[in-house]
Amino acid sequence: MAERAEELRRARDVASRLRRIVDSALGAGRTRTAQGRDIDEHQPHTERLAYLATETLAVETLLDYAEAAGERDPLATGEAIVFTGQVAGRARAQIGDALETFGLEQAELDKTLDATEARAFIRGALDDRRIEAIGARVVEWRGTPDCYLEGELERMTREAVRDFARAEVAPIAQHIHLDDELVPEAIIAKMAELGFFGLAVPVEYGGQGMGNLAMILTTEELSAASLAAAGSLITRPEILTKALLGGGSDEQKRTWLPRLAAGQIMAAISVTEPDTGSDVASVKVRAERTAQGGREGWLISGAKAWCTFAGRADVIAMLCRTDPDLAKGAKGLSLFIVPKERFPGHQFVMRQEGGGVIEGKADRTPGYRGMHSYTLQIERYFVAGENLVGGEGRGFYLQMNGFAAGRLQTGGRATGLAQAALEAAAHYANERSQFGQPIGRYGLTRYKLGRMAVEIAAARQLTYHAARVFDREEGRAVEPSMAKLFACDVAVRTTQEAQLLHGGWGFAEEFPICRYVVDALVLPIFEGVKPVLELKVIGRALLS
Ligand SMILES: Cc1cc2nc3c(=O)[nH]c(=O)nc-3n(C[C@H](O)[C@H](O)[C@H](O)COP(=O)(O)OP(=O)(O)OC[C@H]3O[C@@H](n4cnc5c(N)ncnc54)[C@H](O)[C@@H]3O)c2cc1C
Repeated sequence: MAERAEELRRARDVASRLRRIVDSALGAGRTRTAQGRDIDEHQPHTERLAYLATETLAVETLLDYAEAAGERDPLATGEAIVFTGQVAGRARAQIGDALETFGLEQAELDKTLDATEARAFIRGALDDRRIEAIGARVVEWRGTPDCYLEGELERMTREAVRDFARAEVAPIAQHIHLDDELVPEAIIAKMAELGFFGLAVPVEYGGQGMGNLAMILTTEELSAASLAAAGSLITRPEILTKALLGGGSDEQKRTWLPRLAAGQIMAAISVTEPDTGSDVASVKVRAERTAQGGREGWLISGAKAWCTFAGRADVIAMLCRTDPDLAKGAKGLSLFIVPKERFPGHQFVMRQEGGGVIEGKADRTPGYRGMHSYTLQIERYFVAGENLVGGEGRGFYLQMNGFAAGRLQTGGRATGLAQAALEAAAHYANERSQFGQPIGRYGLTRYKLGRMAVEIAAARQLTYHAARVFDREEGRAVEPSMAKLFACDVAVRTTQEAQLLHGGWGFAEEFPICRYVVDALVLPIFEGVKPVLELKVIGRALLS
């Protein structure tokens, strides 16, 4: 007990040294980039700083958790110590190798991460035996113990969702993936019944009003069963809900939120276009004022890309250009709720009486199957005036607000998927024997599993922290983006390491680990592709 407290105290000391040097590097980065205005002149360094700051926050949140959890999570202290050592050790080397680039002096490193006590801590933290010991527990327990949650409501939420995910989603997840099927209506109906679509919708609009941590816990459990056919189903209503709460009129909130919360309507989100991805301010799909059958409204025309779930969705939240002057950039964009009928297949044509058409064709993808992602051709599609959310010219701001919520939720998606991969690998390590013993008895297997468990714990606590921050300050972009950045990388690394532990069987499509790998690959791409998230969201927020 006393030993644990002492180790955590030393880890905390190193974490505060790390914080000091990272803050100095950020300060120098601000000067170098003229308070963020010249980020594009220094992209590699901005990326470096964004990642370092993200990992530093992850260290702090994991240490906070280990202190709070105590013995209630038997792995927490070890994980926090290893992760602190890992990030501090890498930061010391990275900064030490490029002091000038970081704008720092050797003396600052000497006082912080290069100090004798810091070096000793890092050496001890990264001792192979310590990491192997964590991995040995992972093998023995076929995963990691549930992380400690203070709130009873949160613990109950996690358990209830897990029961549902294991009983209803996990048994069909592999079939949906292999046959590229659409998620069955029965799953949507049960998720609606259990209130999963309204977790973060305020009670006055028919939701659960449970806040973002409950939403993350739900997401994690659903994503562990299936990223695409369960965990990601709540991303779209989450994004649209936040956009409506951020800028919808009272009438719009009363009209749409209860139906979204009840799962009566499914939403798709359509921002990306064939030629426009990260540069959202350049969206080209046009919406022009019109009147049809005595109704004021808009005619939408153009092409969209990668609109996930557009076939099944009842509404598409679509970002369109209402001001034809391209020079207006983001200020010329508006957000519409575009109603349509449901279509089950990989292709659909939605025709309106007045001649408007939306044609959708799903693009084939190696993973993230279950909702299909469509390219859309839209021709003079009529949308009533009351479906313009938040007024003309506010679409970009509302969409970004929605994306902040989406990124937070993706932190939960990635953590759930990584946890599933870890558990699959731990099971396999028990079952598979080579050279006369289960592969889980080998030191390297244990070491690898230990590293995975450490990184997942850090991704989880960073995401929970971001959820709590988001509860306090709706629309805050930086912590959710950090959670998304780090957790998605952890999911990619963990799934690939777990696949390797499966040897040749990891490459067999019948094994879920094969699905986990291809599903994870999409995580760093959407909702802000990784480099753009680092530069334009995290880097800009830290340096300006
Ligand atoms: C399976 C899947 C589902 C999706 N679902 C949806 C959805 O439902 N709705 C939706 O609207 N979109 C969706 N997307 C689209 C996704 O959000 C975009 O792919 C993403 O935003 C990146 O845009 P892009 O693909 O056009 O890449 P680009 O913007 O072309 O970026 C490609 C690369 O260029 C480089 N780059 C770009 N800009 C810069 C810069 N300023 N500085 C330095 N480097 C830069 C980076 O290396 C980047 O990775 C989905 C995508 C996929 C793959």
